[in-house]
This record gives sequence, structure tokens and C-alpha cells, in this order.
Amino acid sequence: MGLFNRRKTEFVDADILVIGGGMAGCGATYESRYWGRDLKIVCVEKANIERSGAVAQGLYAINCYMGMQWDENQPEDHVRYARNDLMGLVREDLGYDIARHVDSTVHKFEEWGLPIMKDPETGRYQREGKWQIMIHGESYKPIVAEAARKAATEVYNRIMVTHLLMDKTKPNRVAGAVGFNVRSGDFYVFRGKAVIVCAGGASHIYKPRAVGEGMGRTWYAPWSSASAYALPILVGAKMTQMENRIVLTRFKDGYGPVGAYFLHLKTYTENVYGKEYESTWYEHTKNLVGDYIDRHPVPTCLRNHAILEEVKAGRGPIRMVTKEAFQDPHKETVGWENFLGMTIGQAVVWASQNIDPKHTNPELTTSEPYVMGSHATCSGAWASGPSDYAPSEYQWGYNRMMTVDGLFGAGDTIGGTAHKFSSGSFTEGRIAGKAAVNYVNDMGSDEPQVSEAEYEDLQKVVFQPMENYQVGRNEIVAGTVSPSYILPIHGLQRLEKLMDEYVGGIGAHYTTNEWMLNRAIELLGMLKEDLNSLAAEDLHQLQRAWELHHRVLASESVTQHTLFREETRWPGYYYRADHPKLDDEDWHCFTVSQYDRDSGTWQMEKAPVYHIVD
Ligand SMILES: Cc1cc2nc3c(=O)[nH]c(=O)nc-3n(C[C@H](O)[C@H](O)[C@H](O)COP(=O)(O)OP(=O)(O)OC[C@H]3O[C@@H](n4cnc5c(N)ncnc54)[C@H](O)[C@@H]3O)c2cc1C
Repeated sequence: MGLFNRRKTEFVDADILVIGGGMAGCGATYESRYWGRDLKIVCVEKANIERSGAVAQGLYAINCYMGMQWDENQPEDHVRYARNDLMGLVREDLGYDIARHVDSTVHKFEEWGLPIMKDPETGRYQREGKWQIMIHGESYKPIVAEAARKAATEVYNRIMVTHLLMDKTKPNRVAGAVGFNVRSGDFYVFRGKAVIVCAGGASHIYKPRAVGEGMGRTWYAPWSSASAYALPILVGAKMTQMENRIVLTRFKDGYGPVGAYFLHLKTYTENVYGKEYESTWYEHTKNLVGDYIDRHPVPTCLRNHAILEEVKAGRGPIRMVTKEAFQDPHKETVGWENFLGMTIGQAVVWASQNIDPKHTNPELTTSEPYVMGSHATCSGAWASGPSDYAPSEYQWGYNRMMTVDGLFGAGDTIGGTAHKFSSGSFTEGRIAGKAAVNYVNDMGSDEPQVSEAEYEDLQKVVFQPMENYQVGRNEIVAGTVSPSYILPIHGLQRLEKLMDEYVGGIGAHYTTNEWMLNRAIELLGMLKEDLNSLAAEDLHQLQRAWELHHRVLASESVTQHTLFREETRWPGYYYRADHPKLDDEDWHCFTVSQYDRDSGTWQMEKAPVYHIVD
């Protein structure tokens, strides 16, 4: 028990507490300092902000840039684009708010040293597509993190946040968070007047295509563990569009990005017989979703749908035709550099499988589903909108404040706003930071109070998996198996299997129905019971244990939302086989949930979609 005796409790007070120092968290930290010169701004991160989050490896393109200085696009154009891609359902107020500010964010990145490619003829940023600009982005994250580090009063790296703390005087007001240092094991109590959750999206809630030794090989970062959803869900914050999980079409096995290939290199796809296939599925898709199939660009999910149908018809795999483009030495260089700046693994996979795209057209595949709020998908927290633009029904407080007082979010955390990507996530962090400063300034002396009993209870809960291990290891029967506990990897695999089989993963061809969803809810309930017996051999496993807790709660939310929406809104992302068509009459709305942690029940409701932009 030596380890337990050595564990200290550290107390940290903050005016603004930012949880997660990825793109949104760095934006929130930076902007909080700008508006809150004298405030104490604390950023807490489970890794190290220098290289944490989905942008850790770097990126080759900034996917959200309007180019308003050259009149390339206006914010309204971006709202129309995102609305179209999400089959009509986005929070237009939030999307517009990001779009009108995102260019200034990108200009800051350039000022801070991010090399952005320029078009030699026009001198403008080099466009990869209508919204994307190309960067030399291997060091994107360190550059952004430096700005956050300089802005923060303190950055706490290597702290896994496990729970939020609530105010003991006002039940629906946040008061801070607790977590543990994944290296020292010290317990941390953060007391914060406002809390901004920026903890990224969720991978590994569905069984990935690569399992066993390759299980870390997913499209979304394996360390994105759903804390962004679980932390607010547990304290009763409302969530929206959690059924809108995303499936990506990417290069097989390495999940290398295809954007630069399609948009910049002008490569295209074909079936295994060298034939164009999307038009084959036009009538079939129109029958399912109506004129959404006629929109330009064709929504991402519908392009997946054509691939899935073609593969089911036995004419797969779908391949990217690279052989033509790669004859041009410039394009060949860009094709490889695209991976080397952001997904080196894809280059390694091709090398290991004797694939030279100059001579072989590489296979594409569709990924397992992920939950996130910043890509071509919009799962996340239900947030209050900007006061000058949001309809009154979307406004109950400060911009980007959730339905819990003082609890803000940005990036993957916030729902309803697809296509923000790295620059939009940072921008949303800035928006949330500014609003949180206003919230703290308006608070006066009415500060939230943390209950000693609450954090002391949580301390026991947080370290319980280590206690379980200490006791249960005496009963090990073979290898690592003990009848008294389950290890985080076992729980994770059980979660992935049931989500895959019952909630529309790859093993079920992304298909589910009411019975399967109800069965998933039962199985998730049993898994949750067993999580009380999670065992952690060391601090690393303790982190895995809490990541699993967060993934399970987010999965439950995904399942409840999928059950509630009785239509198939996004074929290609998932299918409700018992409601196979898009149903605009009944379901042109947001789904909103609220979890009650005392009873373990979910309350579901519909919320209206307001089209503000024509
Ligand atoms: C594979 C991939 C490719 C992409 N390509 C592009 C692209 O080309 N261009 C582009 O513009 N965008 C791209 N994006 C999108 C972009 O990376 C995301 O939109 C952006 O990173 C989201 O920001 P975020 O802050 O919400 O999440 P992240 O940047 O992932 O940050 C979340 C942070 O929270 C931390 N955290 C999580 N849980 C906890 C916890 N419990 N306690 C403490 N800290 C925690 C994480 O360690 C991480 O640092 C891509 C994303 C992926 C996954």
C-alpha cells in the first residue's frame, strides 16, 4: 500500500479552468488572457500541450478558412456548406459565429510562425479546396501551444481529469474538476469559477478494423477518449446529435487523408473493375433521401453510401486512381508530403505493402464510427449561442455555455457545428474564453463553493481501480486473469464489440434497429455495473480505466440518441433498418438528451432547427 501513502492532494484555484489543451483548449486559454488580463487562467491536460490532441502529429491543411480579405467566401457560404453536408441539420448561429472569426485565427497562426503555402501567381494562400488552405504543418501544434503557454497563468500537463465538481450552494452550477497526475499519482482538486471543456472527440468506442497488435491504428487519435462528452453528461449538461457519428473514407490500413488527393491532385475513385460507380447508386439514394443527393457538393455520408453499396454488390474494393497524377513529379511530391506532414503511418504502410501510388492505385476503406463535433459531423453539448445572432430559443446564457451554469465548451465538445476543424476549434475556444471571462466578471462575489465531502468521495472513487487490483491480484488464476476484477483492455474490447454489433459498427454494416439498440442499452448497463470492478495495476492503467468510464458513458449517449431518431438521416454513417428513409417531416430537428446520474436514466427531446441563412 506504499503507493497510496505517498499520494498527495494538490489544490489549484482558477478563475478560468480549461480542460484539455488541444486546439480548442489553446484557443480558450489564449483568448481568456486577452479579455481577462488579471484573471488566473489554468489549463489542464492529460498529455503535454506541446504535442497533444488530434493535431499532435501535425496537419498539411487548415480546413476552415474563409478568405474574406480576398472575397473568396463569406461566413454565410460556410453555413450553407455545412448545412448541406449534414443533411440540413446544423446550429447555424454557432457555425456563423465561428466562420466570421476564423480568418483572424489563421492570421494569428501565421504571425506565430506557421508556414502557410502561397499561390505564386496571386500571392494568396494556396487553396487545396474551397475551404482548405495548405500549410507546412508538422509543427502546427507546438506553435499553437506556445501561444497558450504564454497566455496561461499555469499549465498542468499529465493530469487526467475524471470528474467535474458542482457548486454546493447552487445545484446547476459548476465549481471545478478533479483528476490525477498520470506520472506521480497525486490527486488534483481544481476550483474554478468558470470551466471550459475542450477534451476532444472519441475513438475506440466502436471496434476498429485493426485489432490486436494493430488496435492503435485508427483514423481518429486513439487517445481521444470521450471525456469531452462524459464530463458534462455526468453533471447533467444536455447533449445534441450524439447519433451523428462519423465514418471516414480513407486509404486502407493507414487511414491516410484523401482531401489533398481529391482536391489538389485531382485524383478520383473507381471500383475494382476500373469503373465509375457513384452514378449507379443515384436513383437508389434518391429514393432514400430525396433531393439531398442532388446537392453540391454531395454530402459526405452519401459518398460513403455509394462506396458501401458498391462493395456490398461485390465490386470492391474502391480504389483511388493515383497512377495518372503521380506521373507529374510535383504532384508525386505533394502526395507523399501530405502524409509525411500529418500521417506518416500511411507512408510506412504503403512501403510495407509494396504500394507505390505511381504504379498501383491504392485501396480505400470506410472506417469504424467516431464521435466528434468538429469534422463532417456535429455531436456534442447543447450550447447557448451568440447574443447578436442566435434565435431566443438557443440563448439561455453566455455564448458557448452549456445548460449547466459556468460550464463552457469548444471544438469537438460542442454539438451542432460541423466543419470547424482545427482552425474553427481554436476559434470556438476563443469565443468560449471571451464569454467565460464575461461570466466570471459578472459573477461579483457570488463565487461557487466546492464541497469537501464531494472531492473526498471522488478521490476514493478515482483510485478505486488501484485498490481493486491490490486485492484482486492475489486471486490471479492465469496470466492476468482474476475472478475479482476486469482490466481496462477487457472492458474496452467488450464495449467495442457490443457497439460494433448492436449500434451500427463495421461488423453490422453500420446497420441497427430498435431491438438491437435496446439490447445494447441492456448490455451497456451490465458493463457499467462491472466497471465497479475495474482494476488498475499502475497509473497508466488507471488512466485507461477512466478513459473507459468516459467512453462507456458517451457510448450510452450515442445509443440513446440513435434509438430516439426514428429515421436514417445520414446513410453512409449509419442505417436504422427499421426506418430506412430520411424523414424531414418528423425529424428535421435536433435530438437533445439529458442524463440523470442519480437514477441512471436519459431524457430525450426534440429541438427545432432554425434556418437563419437563406
Ligand atoms: C485524423 C485527423 C485528421 C484531421 N485533419 C485535419 C486537417 O487536415 N485540417 C484541419 O484543419 N483539421 C483536421 N482535423 C480536425 C482537427 O484536428 C480537430 O478539429 C481539432 O483538433 C479539434 O480540437 P479539440 O480541441 O476539440 O480536440 P483536440 O485537439 O483533440 O484536443 C483535445 C485535448 O484534450 C485532452 N484531453 C482529453 N481528455 C482529457 C482529460 N480527461 N483530461 C485532460 N485532458 C484531456 C487531449 O489530450 C487533447 O490535448 C483532423 C482530425 C483528425 C482526427
